[in-house]
Amino acid sequence: MKSEKFDVIIVGAGVSGLYMLYRLRELGISARVIEMASDVGGTWYWNRYPGARCDTNTLEYSYSFDEELQQEWEWPERYPSQPEILAYLKHVADRFDLRPDISFNTRVDAATFDEASSHWRVSTDDGAELAARFLIMATGCLSEPNLPPIGGMDSFRGPIYHTARFPHEGVDFRGKRVGVIGTGSSGVQAIPVIAEQAAQLTVFQRSPQWSIPAQNRPADPELVAEIKADYAGFRARNRLQPGAQMSHMLPNDISAKAVAEEERQRIFEERWQEGGFAFYGSFNDITVDLESNAMAAEFVRAKIRQIVKDPAVAEALIPEYTIHCKRPVMDSGYFETYNRSNVLLVDINAAPIEAITPAGLRTREADYDFDIIVLATGFDAMTGALLKIDIRGRGGLTLREKWADGPVNYLGLQVPGFPNLFTITGPGSPSVLTNMMVAIEQHVEWVADCISYLEEHGQASIEATEEAQEAWVAHVNEVADQTLWTACHNWYQGDNIPGKPRVFMPLPGFPPYVEKCDAVVANGYEGFVLS
Ligand code: FAD
Ligand code: NAP
Repeated sequence: MKSEKFDVIIVGAGVSGLYMLYRLRELGISARVIEMASDVGGTWYWNRYPGARCDTNTLEYSYSFDEELQQEWEWPERYPSQPEILAYLKHVADRFDLRPDISFNTRVDAATFDEASSHWRVSTDDGAELAARFLIMATGCLSEPNLPPIGGMDSFRGPIYHTARFPHEGVDFRGKRVGVIGTGSSGVQAIPVIAEQAAQLTVFQRSPQWSIPAQNRPADPELVAEIKADYAGFRARNRLQPGAQMSHMLPNDISAKAVAEEERQRIFEERWQEGGFAFYGSFNDITVDLESNAMAAEFVRAKIRQIVKDPAVAEALIPEYTIHCKRPVMDSGYFETYNRSNVLLVDINAAPIEAITPAGLRTREADYDFDIIVLATGFDAMTGALLKIDIRGRGGLTLREKWADGPVNYLGLQVPGFPNLFTITGPGSPSVLTNMMVAIEQHVEWVADCISYLEEHGQASIEATEEAQEAWVAHVNEVADQTLWTACHNWYQGDNIPGKPRVFMPLPGFPPYVEKCDAVVANGYEGFVLS
């Protein structure tokens, strides 16, 4: 592989990298994918913790680019489990014969733009150097694990597993004393399953969660047939939703304040029973109006008090921040788990963790003995995987320097000073605020069309302008400021990583974003310089 040259190098073989490769191949453009894992799948390769599952409906969390694929693939449940999604992505890789163009077990460590040849030089951990005109970062928004800065990790006598680096062979929790740190989506999914197996489970909670029951169930054959009868129409309607998904139940277009109390409770209850994201569509202003938001929060608060038998535990599980301010969490029996006699909740705000010890973990108030510790502590989201790579653009400017105060770019796709480098679902695009399958397909198609356009028009490079970047960053901030997402501690703003600049990274609203991307192309790649 030494000093090989390609038209395009793609980093990452998850949902994004696989489709990017497929799309470029269709256009007759040669591409090489570099993937540090031993197989395809990205998120679904790495996150093998018990209970790992998507919370987007299966019929929506799948590729739409191939009619036969979407007609033939059968999902057994309403929400796909990690093994099912991984099997699906492996099938896609095989079906379209993608593997020959992927280098597995290879990590990209550095990428430098060579101005003289207008090529990206990419170095990998096996000492190889590759060159390509275009470099596409399909490195994932949630792929760089967050290892909490807790002292003593190396001293622990048992194993410590991060949910995003779980052993492939699984972990046998039977008869074990287990400590779980973190109660985000991963923790909330893993905790009920671990509790069923372990002798004793202790959960260390920094922030309680507004979790909604997923209400997972076997796939409904009638619904599947109905959607598959007009899959294209279903996908098109999805793309018109702010989050590019419908959850099989469209949001109600009415304010929570516009209906009487009894009717409001009826609607909340109906949506709670439907489960998942449908709950947040109970009314059209839960995510933007504090009063309506408080009504939804009060409904969930009452549910938690109803489910959790010990009133003190119930109170400790109820968040104080606005509902939907963190990334929404969906569960299968999460709050019920705290009724089990083998489960203990520890509020680490009241008793902060001091250290991992050889025997387990010490908080300010007590010592706990464990056989296994699970870190469900999330990710250095959106920028973590990108900044881990030493990326150098024009004049040797590093991406780390350029983003020292937080990520800046144009359309979430390109950074001025870094010609021919694209980020799939980069910060500044809807990405993690959407059904990511849809966001990924839209980005991949935009980038592939752009490269194809450059080829057809004899252009060697494309680079976003500083002016376009400035206007775009201002736009993202303006849209974010109209939401309630900036009102709490969340990873959308990097709050989970000590020292990370506090910038709201994704852009709310998928349909207007797509319109903007299309308009940029229609106006001759407005905001970019082609040369
Ligand atoms: P990834 O799947 O993260 O793939 C990136 C790939 O790049 C990885 O394989 C990684 O190994 C590789 N890579 C990174 N850096 C390097 C490097 N330097 N060198 C070589 N390779 C590198 N989204 C939804 O829309 N709905 C959901 O319900 C949902 N559930 C999720 C559940 C979990 C547990 C997690 C973690 C995420 C979930 N997501 C969900 C988001 C999910 O990440 C996306 O849906 C999607 O899988 C992202 O695909 P990707 O290819 O862009 O990135
Ligand atoms: P997360 O949401 O960031 O949750 C991490 C948890 O660990 C939080 O409770 C956090 O507390 C806690 N934590 C972090 N650092 C800590 C420290 N130093 N000490 C103690 N506690 C600490 O991460 P995640 O659960 O892995 O989920 C990340 C994202 O992946 C989700 O938001 C979602 O987008 C995706 N995901 C989706 C699903 C799904 O159901 N489809 C499942 C898993 C993941 P704070 O909240 O106080 O920071």
